[in-house]
Amino acid sequence: MAFLSLGLRALVNVEAMNMVESVGNIVRHRKAAVIFRRDSSYIVRWVPAVSGECLAHSYQSWLADLATKRGLPVCEYCAKHEFVKHADLKIFGSLPWEQRLAELVKSVESGRGSKRSVDTVAFMHEFEKTIVGNCVVEDIGGFLYAGRIPVKRTSRFASSYMIPALDVIEKAVIETQFQVRHAPTASQSWEQAQMTYNVEVGSAVYAWSFYLDLASIGCCTAVKRECLDLEQRRKRVELAIDALMLMLENRLFGAKQSRYTPVVDYEIVLTSLSQPLPFNVSPPAMGIEFVEDTARRAQAFAKATRSEVELYAYTRNKDLAENLRELGIKTFTTITEMLSTVKQRALSMLR
Ligand SMILES: [Zn+2]
Repeated sequence: MAFLSLGLRALVNVEAMNMVESVGNIVRHRKAAVIFRRDSSYIVRWVPAVSGECLAHSYQSWLADLATKRGLPVCEYCAKHEFVKHADLKIFGSLPWEQRLAELVKSVESGRGSKRSVDTVAFMHEFEKTIVGNCVVEDIGGFLYAGRIPVKRTSRFASSYMIPALDVIEKAVIETQFQVRHAPTASQSWEQAQMTYNVEVGSAVYAWSFYLDLASIGCCTAVKRECLDLEQRRKRVELAIDALMLMLENRLFGAKQSRYTPVVDYEIVLTSLSQPLPFNVSPPAMGIEFVEDTARRAQAFAKATRSEVELYAYTRNKDLAENLRELGIKTFTTITEMLSTVKQRALSMLR
């Protein structure tokens, strides 16, 4: 049993990680309404935000790419970073196992007998087992087949929106960057060749929460628990943590990287690993005190539930590192070292 939770704060400048619409020649950044307390009242503000879907897309893309490199199974669409996840028969891929599953679905749904005569539970289990066995992205990231007998696998990971930390929310900004495509000769042939456009960019101290239920990777749970062998589950747990490491260490997440690669400076990345019960890191958006709050909660939770909760952190700030050590948190100066240590420990927890 092992459950990983992570909370981070990062100073991010000039990012266009999550754009939502084009209006005329303006491309707009996603915004979200957040509420925070000031003195004795509450304030509402619309701030730049990066959706959980956007970050989940990046994470699943890394899962797909790493899995392919390691020879772990990935379905046709997930391998292309199109996470439609067998939602409908029309988007089942052409791999032999996907076609066999499509045949099974058709035979169940074709009315060879009414819904009552179909062993629904057996069908749901067979569906989940087939997909878990053959696509690690859907094993870890879940799926929803929305047919006559719907089958759902809840994602083993969860991602919050990345929003400005509430303690420094007054410093979060969205501004419009004016751009011109300079083309004096081409515009003689095509009027629109020389073009102005505007891109909204965000800058803020962002906070993000993420968790990964490592213990149930490689295990069916829709109607009954049935797991792949331990060796296969270990490979997938390694993959799940390595994909997170690749994404965070190299700051490869969000859209519009080609011309708006965000300047990301992590303040802290705090990770917890717990067994047998899940423990979540406190929300990093609430202020840097989330570290102390997490440490206090971890201790109380471990004692009350007889669980194990271990904390690991990454920071380059020497004062913060000193505080972390005083709180008994293992501290690292690279995300790679931190998550490699977490990975080895998590693998030793798998049964
Ligand atoms: Zn897939």
